[in-house]
Amino acid sequence: MQYPGQQLIDLHSHTHFSDGELDPMALLMLMAEHGVEHLAITDHDSMGAHYELRQRLSELNHTDKQPLPNIIPGIEISCSAANREIHVVGLNIDVDNPVLVAFVQQQQENRKRRIGLYCDKLEKLGMIGAMEELQKLSAEALTRAHLAKVMVEKGWVPDNARAFKRFIGRTGKAYVKMQWPEMEQAVDVIHAAGGMAVLAHPSRYQLSRKQLKLLIDQFADIGGDALELTYPNIDPQMFRWLSQQAELHGLRGSQGSDFHSPAWSWVKPGVFPPMPESIPPVWQSWLAT
Ligand code: AMP
Ligand code: MN
Ligand code: MN
Ligand code: MN
Repeated sequence: MQYPGQQLIDLHSHTHFSDGELDPMALLMLMAEHGVEHLAITDHDSMGAHYELRQRLSELNHTDKQPLPNIIPGIEISCSAANREIHVVGLNIDVDNPVLVAFVQQQQENRKRRIGLYCDKLEKLGMIGAMEELQKLSAEALTRAHLAKVMVEKGWVPDNARAFKRFIGRTGKAYVKMQWPEMEQAVDVIHAAGGMAVLAHPSRYQLSRKQLKLLIDQFADIGGDALELTYPNIDPQMFRWLSQQAELHGLRGSQGSDFHSPAWSWVKPGVFPPMPESIPPVWQSWLAT
């Protein structure tokens, strides 16, 4: 949310290189229309949007570029901790760092294999032919969101939420328990690429307060830099508690819409509650605001 004297900064968003709907340029233009001045594109296990934009922006002349947000190179890495699939956002990363590039390549291969296992499980439940549809997609990082969409299109479930709840979510019948790299490895690879590691949307992992506290303790211990403190629909009580946890551990704060699609009526570019002033923002050292 924009407030006086501050620039509008959105540090979490997706393009069609992962499970977002828009191509990178369309996302930038939409964000600009909503007044976003600094945007981190953070696709799941993909940096393709950054390579494409580097090319596209170099083809534009200076005046064309004026209305577009400043781009902060980012990524959202899937990893394992707390017996869950945890997301760590890397911000201000070097997208050409060879350690990170090799890691992301491996993640994409694991994602393909994992989606294949999901499709096998669905077939056993009588839902046949998802893989063929998924193979037609151009996304670099195949996600369960892609699979859920196919399941809706095939008429196997009425909507995305039910695809997750009944079948592909953690307690669903076709869930595949994935051994992602440990959270520490995700933090290390982000640091190797010169970035800051942010624990994404801490309230969305279906953890009890006690379990979430342990996860945050662990994240701080392994050298994580920031907690995502504000995002759409965050419960105010959770927001206050997370802010206390950040202060307790000397972690910075981050913010972002986690924008995926204009069709998601509950997520608007750059819209989330303001960060508490007492917490140093993650962008402090690399953005002059
Ligand atoms: P993956 O990274 O392959 O596990 O896919 C996770 C993505 O699926 C998330 O980033 C969301 O975009 C989407 N997702 C996760 N849970 C749900 C849900 N319950 N309903 C709708 N979409 C979901
Ligand atoms: Mn997603
Ligand atoms: Mn996420
Ligand atoms: Mn995300």
